[in-house]
Amino acid sequence: MGNLKETLNKKIAYSELEEDLKNSLKDKEFALLVKELKLDKNTAMKKVSKLKEVIEEKKNCFNCKGIYMCKNSYQAHFLNAIIMDNRLYFTYVPCKYQKEVLKFNEKKVIRMKDIDTNDKKQLDIIKWMDNFYEDYTPTLEMKGLFLHGSFGSGKTYLLSALLNELNISKKVSIEIVYFPEALRSIKEDFDLFSYKMDKFMNTDILLIDDIGAEKVTEWGRDEVLGTILQYRMDNKKTTFFTSNLTINELEEHLSLTKSSIDKVKSRRIIERIKQLTIDKELISENRRG
Ligand code: ADP
Ligand code: MG
Repeated sequence: MGNLKETLNKKIAYSELEEDLKNSLKDKEFALLVKELKLDKNTAMKKVSKLKEVIEEKKNCFNCKGIYMCKNSYQAHFLNAIIMDNRLYFTYVPCKYQKEVLKFNEKKVIRMKDIDTNDKKQLDIIKWMDNFYEDYTPTLEMKGLFLHGSFGSGKTYLLSALLNELNISKKVSIEIVYFPEALRSIKEDFDLFSYKMDKFMNTDILLIDDIGAEKVTEWGRDEVLGTILQYRMDNKKTTFFTSNLTINELEEHLSLTKSSIDKVKSRRIIERIKQLTIDKELISENRRG
């Protein structure tokens, strides 16, 4: 009996989705989008509301005069549907106004030659970076840094310069991820999540910026961070971190509730970080602002 009821419920659910799709297809723009993406019926049925959101957000953009009046769910971006390897993905794309902002900032990509070398406390790191730059190729197994120290001492600045230089001059693929923000944004959209995870896992060099400043959740620690680090370890990919916390403080931070389970899981992350990096400290004046 139970099985029969289940099957019946599934059938009802299916026919409701089918009906929903049929009604939605009466809308010209919806039908066009489904056609352009070459979606089969099953895929389209499951994603009706998401596809409608795509249309809605593009409409908002069409009528928009600037970021200040953005109506979309992720400011200055619109939801886009794309097909990659025969699968449907939803991603957020910077809008035309945001692209101008990005283009403007792009001119200010920091490179190694921009680094001011007057701060003696930074010299050890800069020297290390010079050597790393010379030696690095994606096929070599090279450790990154766990660079910790005081706020505003130049941790993010220096490592960004190194990664950008490798990217521009040696065509190395890089990802710089401001960790607290990344966790927040990927939590909201599963498709964005898988897309970003793929990038974080597979890029030649990854910089996880400001680890320890995030609000820790089990999901962020185990599913996101743990997965990325394990993959990068297994595939011998170079990974950098910056943090205001020492490795011991980070271990404490990642253990959340201090239950014994959390302590084990936090320890596991720390072990991975230690395998991936060389520990260096940078304590200097705060140069921010
Ligand atoms: P941290 O990540 O350690 O908190 P940042 O890397 O953000 O600090 O550095 C703060 C600011 O100091 C940067 O935005 C940059 O303008 C400046 N800065 C730090 N080091 C240098 C340097 N070697 N050359 C030029 N500017 C620097
Ligand atoms: Mg920083």
